[in-house]
Amino acid sequence: MAEAGTDAPPPLLSTTAALYLDFDGTLADIALHPDAVVVSEPLPELLLALRERLAGAVAVVTGRRLAAVDAMIAPARLAGSGLHGAELRADGDSPAETSADPAGAGPLARALRERFADDPRVYVEDKGAAVSLHYRQAPEREQECRDAMRALAPPGRFDVTEGSRVVEARPRGADKGAALAALARQPPFAGRRPVFVGDDVTDEDGFRTAERLGGYGVKVGPGPTAARYRIAEVGRVHDWLHESLAALERERAP
Ligand SMILES: [Mg+2]
Repeated sequence: MAEAGTDAPPPLLSTTAALYLDFDGTLADIALHPDAVVVSEPLPELLLALRERLAGAVAVVTGRRLAAVDAMIAPARLAGSGLHGAELRADGDSPAETSADPAGAGPLARALRERFADDPRVYVEDKGAAVSLHYRQAPEREQECRDAMRALAPPGRFDVTEGSRVVEARPRGADKGAALAALARQPPFAGRRPVFVGDDVTDEDGFRTAERLGGYGVKVGPGPTAARYRIAEVGRVHDWLHESLAALERERAP
């Protein structure tokens, strides 16, 4: 076993893997505005082919709402978790179950919009149960954005996380590790080796949980991490997935 946090590239996926994928910064490059993210054309088909080879065990684990990811990777619709764990669905055909008040972040989103009404570069994304404050276009306001979120988010109801050019309030207790663990208890994920791939601070819970359950994490991009392996960027994630798919197909060929 490699040391935690090394720069070792991940091995190709084995037939017994269950794959848990973050979306922004992992499957798609981050854009200046979250609505401007572009999904590469072959991605939906790649995800569907992997899901077939892994007996259905491919999930997206994201801070977005699952419906937002569904729209971007259509016609693929995967099992997964949205809003950092507050939404969960064990297969792509079921509706997502939400463990948090679906409109609970509305007042916080309104307060943040009021606070940054002077600056259209600061974007408040109201996700219903969670809210993200994006300042990618106004990096010099980072500290102000972080301070405002911490000041305005009621601490009994939200956990605040600072990500890459974003600060997010998610329902208290929801995290990607708990989401992975919940999915891993259910078919088709149960009994498979979890592989969690992500790029940001909130993915660290996923890396640790994957390791605890006998699998491993793959960190995308630079920075300290609990993941066992690392991939440099989104394009290389796609390469790794394509190579894994080819190997899985060879393995199944007569
Ligand atoms: Mg991400």
